[in-house]
Amino acid sequence: MRITKNSLNTTVGPEEWFTGTVYVDTITTPTEQSRLSAVNVHFSPSARTAWHTHPCGQTIYVTEGIGLCQRRGGPVEVLYPGDKVFFEPNEEHWHGAAPQRFMTHIAFLEVDAAGTSATWGSHVTDEEYTMPAM
Ligand code: MN
Repeated sequence: MRITKNSLNTTVGPEEWFTGTVYVDTITTPTEQSRLSAVNVHFSPSARTAWHTHPCGQTIYVTEGIGLCQRRGGPVEVLYPGDKVFFEPNEEHWHGAAPQRFMTHIAFLEVDAAGTSATWGSHVTDEEYTMPAM
């Protein structure tokens, strides 16, 4: 058993991977024994990931706010607390906050054998980032 007290600093999501301001709290990182990665991600209003894929897929679990997500070729979907989304392995997608709301989700994934968690593409443009009618 190993307890980690609330001692790790929140980090800012890098500009190459996100549009807008995003804060990341690490929950667990992969080890030799486990490929699990989990992070708690806080998106400020209108902040979102760039387009990206995960080699082994990803589950996100929304804990606060209102969020948006989209897979390539699909509609933008609205997310509420308690909603869960599984992105298939190598399915291109993005996720983030609604335009005028914060959103927090926990993201779970397994890295591949090379330790890769994601492959990043272009930023989500303002034209792509649209709020569906509610
Ligand atoms: Mn993702």
